[in-house]
Amino acid sequence: MNSLEAVDTLVIGSGPGGYVAALRSSQLGMTTVLVERHQIGGVCTHVGCIPSKALIAEAERIHLRRHWYAVDEASSFQEAQLFKQAVVDKQSGGVRFLLKSAGVTLIEGEASLIDANTVEIHHNEQNERRIGFKHLILATGSRPIEISALPFGGRILSSTEALSLADIPKSLVVVGGGYIGVELGQMFARFGTTVTILEGGEQILPGFEAELVAPVVRQLKKDGITILTEAKVTGADPYTSHIDLQYMRQDQHHVVQAEYALITVGRKPNTDGTLGLEKIGLSPTPQGLIEIDKQCRTSIPNIYAIGDIVQGPALAHKASYEAKIAAEAIAGKPSVIDYKALPLVVFSHPEITSVGLSETDCKHKSIPVILGKSIFSINGRALALKETEGLVKIVAHAASGLVLGAQIVGAEASTLISELSLAIEMGATVEDIAMTIHPHPTLGEIVMEAAEQAQRRL
Ligand code: FAD
Repeated sequence: MNSLEAVDTLVIGSGPGGYVAALRSSQLGMTTVLVERHQIGGVCTHVGCIPSKALIAEAERIHLRRHWYAVDEASSFQEAQLFKQAVVDKQSGGVRFLLKSAGVTLIEGEASLIDANTVEIHHNEQNERRIGFKHLILATGSRPIEISALPFGGRILSSTEALSLADIPKSLVVVGGGYIGVELGQMFARFGTTVTILEGGEQILPGFEAELVAPVVRQLKKDGITILTEAKVTGADPYTSHIDLQYMRQDQHHVVQAEYALITVGRKPNTDGTLGLEKIGLSPTPQGLIEIDKQCRTSIPNIYAIGDIVQGPALAHKASYEAKIAAEAIAGKPSVIDYKALPLVVFSHPEITSVGLSETDCKHKSIPVILGKSIFSINGRALALKETEGLVKIVAHAASGLVLGAQIVGAEASTLISELSLAIEMGATVEDIAMTIHPHPTLGEIVMEAAEQAQRRL
């Protein structure tokens, strides 16, 4: 067993939380070690954001050729998989390069806590070492939640296996109409799979307002997807060639048959197992989350937690944001978390995104608001791109015009939302956006027009 002098910061997990925390810690002049048990870049790079967006982009290209140019070429899923893997490898290599350039020491192995200043790292049976640390950032991420009646394996897939299928399935039933289920369901449909989405709630993409979800539902239906809401899965019979999935809907028992079932009902924090939180007296909540203060500090003053293992939506950019706060807090800076400008994105086609407060949130909080709305179908650039389905909605304070939130459904919503995040972060008003010169012809003008409309209501 080797031992090292106590490092300033030790980070466990190299996802978008952990690697960003390690980079920031090192940039701030602290000796930094990053421990990863599996793949550099975490879920995001290997089985999450990056591979899903690579396959979605390929599916979108197929859709465009088929829809606009009637080119129905046999789409090679194997080629798409090779493209996806090349993107993932490049991204993971990029993370490694950044860590090396910043002087972060990377150790491959599984970290278990010994006490509040020491971890033991197991690389394999023969190779283990202890490292002392002054500060620890836990960034161990999450894994897919299993439904007890439908354990993963064989014909029952989590998003991880679904993203690595060698061949395109003929049929797929997606259990859970949240963002991962909708994104992957639409992606498979565009590669030619017959897709059914079963969602327990009243609408898919719960949490987004109905007027934003409606254009996505229309497109999913055009893509041939069957959406069954208020459908509760009760069991499954997997066979060699297919799976029968039983569900209850409108008090009736039903069965849907498919080649595979994809379960996307949420993610579980990696705060159990051999990590050893109990050895340092850190007890996760019943959901497995670790409680933190405004600087990502746990109840143990030198131990921080970020990303999917703490409260809030499980998103890569939230993890990276918290990473910077935690590293800066360790360096003695007064940085604190403020989620008011945290965007949520669904990479469906059309994309949906939301930042800050919605009209519904403001109603619940009795905040008087003005709204500004503008649609894609009257925007020249949207017409030229043949992307006329969509809407920008800005929610502003009724008296001051301060931007409180915004929602977009439409092409490039994931990019357009950053202007509105910045507006919230900077305390901008609708007048500030309306009077900002936006280049013509761009989709950004739809944001400007929504702001102008809200401004007229002030
Ligand atoms: P992770 O990325 O989960 O990384 C944690 C790392 O810690 C892992 O590599 C793990 O091996 C390592 N680890 C755990 N325990 C130990 C240990 N004891 N010792 C050493 N290493 C350990 N988010 C978005 O913002 N946008 C998207 O488009 C998006 N798409 C997604 C699509 C899919 C299919 C999935 C599954 C997720 C998606 N997400 C997306 C969510 C995003 O991937 C996560 O929110 C993000 O990866 C969380 O980052 P993290 O740093 O907390 O943890």
